[in-house]
Amino acid sequence: MKIVRALAITAALFLIHGVAFAQSCELSIDGNDAIQFSESELSVSKDCGEVTLTLNHVGSLPKSAMGHNWVLAKTSDAQAVVTDGINAGLANNYLKPDDARVLAATEVIGGGESTSITFSVADLEAGGDYTFFCSFPGHFAIMKGKFIVS
Ligand code: ZN
Repeated sequence: MKIVRALAITAALFLIHGVAFAQSCELSIDGNDAIQFSESELSVSKDCGEVTLTLNHVGSLPKSAMGHNWVLAKTSDAQAVVTDGINAGLANNYLKPDDARVLAATEVIGGGESTSITFSVADLEAGGDYTFFCSFPGHFAIMKGKFIVS
């Protein structure tokens, strides 16, 4: 009887944890033709281990004119990542190849397209100062937000 009760509690805890996992470890954000992201803040828990982010370009302009990507870096590195990315060009998704300051990044997509990336948050610092942004030339000023790790 005692064992059965213990198993039931274990199952209940697993269920609760499973729900929390599903809610906080899958992120989604839209970009549009007006150089805007749909979110100014995204939050994840380190408990996720890995996070999957989906970027949807809900506009209609091609990526050569209005491309968007989703890039994560420390806030103190973001501007330099963008500056170096402009020189790297669209062929490199406007990111310097093998840029160690880039913590995660999707490819650049155009209107009507979606892309997703799965990355580890295990090495990110809880309470650290992180920014997500689009590295397409000229977009960083508007297309950025706070990435909160707890
Ligand atoms: Zn953009």
